[in-house]
Amino acid sequence: MTLNIEHYQKKLLEEKARLLRELKDVGRINPDNENDWEPVAANLNIDPAEEEERAEEISDFENRSAVEFELEKRFNEIERALERIEKGTYGVCSVCQKQIEEDRLEANYSAETCKTHKG
Ligand SMILES: [Zn+2]
Repeated sequence: MTLNIEHYQKKLLEEKARLLRELKDVGRINPDNENDWEPVAANLNIDPAEEEERAEEISDFENRSAVEFELEKRFNEIERALERIEKGTYGVCSVCQKQIEEDRLEANYSAETCKTHKG
């Protein structure tokens, strides 16, 4: 049984493109590290008298941070999976070195372990 790597690579690249679009909505690339994303900062140039507006801005920022964190985590998993395709180790369990079940990979294209060794 050989994996159809091209199929998974295509899926991974599609998801990567989608994640990048979503990341751009909530964050920007860290100017000091192009591999790191950071949430768009809160606009605190609001008149301190506008308390409600400030509170809203801060709560928006917290939401962006949480979303950005999850997207970046997923993005990094996709990146690692694409690297494994490059190295020829994609679809191999990192624990037992056996081939990861196809239905597990279908459910999660970036799975690094087989069903026996997941989580
Ligand atoms: Zn395993």
